[in-house]
Amino acid sequence: MKPAAFVYHGARSIDEAVALLASHGDDAKLLAGGQSLVPMMNMRLAQPRHVIDINNIAQGDAIALDGDRLVLGALVRHEAVARSALVRTRCPILAAAAASIGHYAIRTRGTLGGSLAHADPAAQLPLIMTLLDAALEARSVRGSRMVGAAQFFTGVFATALAPDELLTTVQVPCLPTGAGWGFRLMSRRVGDFAIAAAAATVTLDTDGGIDTVRAALGGVEATPVSLGGLGAAQRGHSPDRAWSAALAKSFVAARQPLDDPRVPAVYRRELAEVLLTRALDDAVVRARGGSP
Ligand SMILES: Cc1cc2nc3c(=O)[nH]c(=O)nc-3n(C[C@H](O)[C@H](O)[C@H](O)COP(=O)(O)OP(=O)(O)OC[C@H]3O[C@@H](n4cnc5c(N)ncnc54)[C@H](O)[C@@H]3O)c2cc1C
Repeated sequence: MKPAAFVYHGARSIDEAVALLASHGDDAKLLAGGQSLVPMMNMRLAQPRHVIDINNIAQGDAIALDGDRLVLGALVRHEAVARSALVRTRCPILAAAAASIGHYAIRTRGTLGGSLAHADPAAQLPLIMTLLDAALEARSVRGSRMVGAAQFFTGVFATALAPDELLTTVQVPCLPTGAGWGFRLMSRRVGDFAIAAAAATVTLDTDGGIDTVRAALGGVEATPVSLGGLGAAQRGHSPDRAWSAALAKSFVAARQPLDDPRVPAVYRRELAEVLLTRALDDAVVRARGGSP
């Protein structure tokens, strides 16, 4: 199919893009990698009257280190995240998650900002941003604001972005020194969207007990969900297989999994528990200096 007719605008700066958004608001869509927007337009699920191409915004795809945070431009392609030496060293779980997205062709076009704004519940990058408590910068002609990942994702394909806002950068906390991480997903075929995914980070104290633990699930509820306050209660625990299984079980028990004829809630719950147990196990192995 072909998209409905639209007016194409090529924005060369953030100011130009937000001015165009301010003029066209609800009638406009930003075009980043086009890997979600273009299929939706072709199927007429989206029929924007104005398409604002942001691919030529200078420095929109920069990756930098600012203290203990990575600052990634919204236009960074998934493949660039996966290959970046900086990301691989300072936040390897983000690089691994990006490398698992779709196929190579998708990863070379799809962007970080596009994935976050699209907010597919099963997408890898929203999950990692939720796990790590990333801060997302939204710009409009009204100014700039930072939104925490926990507040950014509001539902299936829904975010806190206003129609005139553009995601410009994402600040991702680097993993603490010595942190181990685990990322597991299940999809029917390699390259398909995940049915569910789990991510975890663990740091150990000097006695080898749990110091900190973070965990999050994607594809289970309408938005990624993180372990939140449960983490502190784990301090000092000896992280063996029983520990990870029990933690995964209690976290997943509190979830209300999505239910559809293709993937019933009962299956999604079991899957999430297995994936999270394995992600926690992997994180512990890496925190001990091993390789899962
Ligand atoms: C075959 C296939 C398999 C895929 N598999 C996966 C997968 O396994 N995991 C996964 O996570 N994704 C997958 N994707 C989606 C892919 O990651 C997309 O790249 C991503 O969802 C959207 O990014 P994009 O840059 O292409 O955005 P676009 O398609 O250009 O835009 C998507 C939406 O975001 C908005 N938008 C884009 N950039 C911004 C911005 N900076 N600020 C505000 N709004 C913005 C657009 O207006 C549009 O509404 C797959 C896609 C395909 C076609």
